[in-house]
Amino acid sequence: MSVVYFSSLSNKKLNSPLNKIKKLFKKLSPEKYFGKNKLVAVKTHFGEFGNTAFIRPIYLRPIIEVLKDLKAKPYLTDTNTLYVGMRTNSVDHLHNAFLNGFNYSTLQVPVIIADGLRGENSVEVSIDGELLDKVKLAADIVHADGMVCVSHFKGHEVSGFGGAIKNLSMGCASREGKLEMHSVTRPKVHKDKCTACGYCKVACAADAIEIKGFAVITDKCTGCARCIAVCPEGAIGINWDETAENTSLKMAEYAYGVHRALRGNILYVTIATNISPACDCYPGNDKPVCEDIGFFASTDPVALDKACYDMVLKRVGGDPFKSIYDYIDPIVQLKHAEKLGLGSLDYELKEIK
Ligand code: SF4
Ligand code: SF4
Repeated sequence: MSVVYFSSLSNKKLNSPLNKIKKLFKKLSPEKYFGKNKLVAVKTHFGEFGNTAFIRPIYLRPIIEVLKDLKAKPYLTDTNTLYVGMRTNSVDHLHNAFLNGFNYSTLQVPVIIADGLRGENSVEVSIDGELLDKVKLAADIVHADGMVCVSHFKGHEVSGFGGAIKNLSMGCASREGKLEMHSVTRPKVHKDKCTACGYCKVACAADAIEIKGFAVITDKCTGCARCIAVCPEGAIGINWDETAENTSLKMAEYAYGVHRALRGNILYVTIATNISPACDCYPGNDKPVCEDIGFFASTDPVALDKACYDMVLKRVGGDPFKSIYDYIDPIVQLKHAEKLGLGSLDYELKEIK
């Protein structure tokens, strides 16, 4: 059984929520994980520009302060998106992060986009999973000495809800890894948008693109997803044709891959406020599906996600995620993660005042 620490946002004494986060994080004994001069990835989601549900940047400050007190060298990080938006390449992504308040003046740490300029900084990690033999992860996360995975708990249209496992899997995968989780076929060209400029053909290392009045992706395609990011017209899209269940299972396998790559040197903090129905990847957000709850921390991402999920169900008196995404049971992913050895569905909740 794993321990999940919890601190409620309810606060009659008007204690600072930042102190609560610091107290929670210290309960995980970070000194056993992150020592002097260790490069520690503080992995979070900067929120697509226009979205306002993402984690408030100052919630990261107490965690960073603890890491600095340990003389570790933390950096903020995330990976580029598969689809075209404000976080498709590192230049736009950094701009997006800074606009949303994840910047040096707020947090006094550098921001590094972990998978390179357009997601090509990718490393394969063997996992011997049920669906995948290996996963493709962002190099500047794999090469870190450890990680603090700071996740926003909310609904998610593929896995039902998104928490630590979503942040660890989709969030740490390189672009080709994200494509592998979401799709079983090669990308598609929108002929009406394609100007036949040939830029994607030059960028494709597999020589899989022919220009015949418009770009044609052939069966030489290896699914690296680079063409999606380089097309200046946004003419190459994704076939979102993997089932929600298989994507959820693959996410569990990717999360396990990150756990293996970092030799378990990961601590988890989840912020359960602004619990929006959908992912922070959208350039907007709906009203929350549950009242603000507070903060959770654990060394076990499976137990942590289960504890957050259980708490939402308790507060709402039902499952707000299943009523929106009735095609997926979020427990499927957690059970698969448990089976892989990522953590335990059994947990003890310890409240920290
Ligand atoms: S880069 Fe885009 S616009 Fe240019 S040929 Fe390829 S798909 Fe068409
Ligand atoms: S996904 Fe990669 S391999 Fe496939 S066509 Fe695009 S650039 Fe080439």
